[in-house]
Amino acid sequence: MKHIMEMKKYLLITIMTTGLMACHSAEKKVVLQTVTSPKITTTEIDPVCEMAKENTWTDYTIYENDSVWFCSENCKKGFMARPAKYKKNLKTNSKS
Ligand SMILES: [Zn+2]
Repeated sequence: MKHIMEMKKYLLITIMTTGLMACHSAEKKVVLQTVTSPKITTTEIDPVCEMAKENTWTDYTIYENDSVWFCSENCKKGFMARPAKYKKNLKTNSKS
């Protein structure tokens, strides 16, 4: 009888240890993902009309590794036609 109790105790410890190890490997994965994430910053304004970005916007493009959002297709076309004219309006994290 006493032997069976000891077995149960051992089993419980094994389960707990396995659970902890699984937790640790999950944390490692998260850190790795953060390090390897692509360097794309989000620009929070429409560079053409300088409106603040809204969640309803669907028009965007990738310009110099930034995602650039537009309130409308017209603004997107305007930017694509002359990106150099509007890129000064982009808020970027690089050299300011
Ligand atoms: Zn616009």
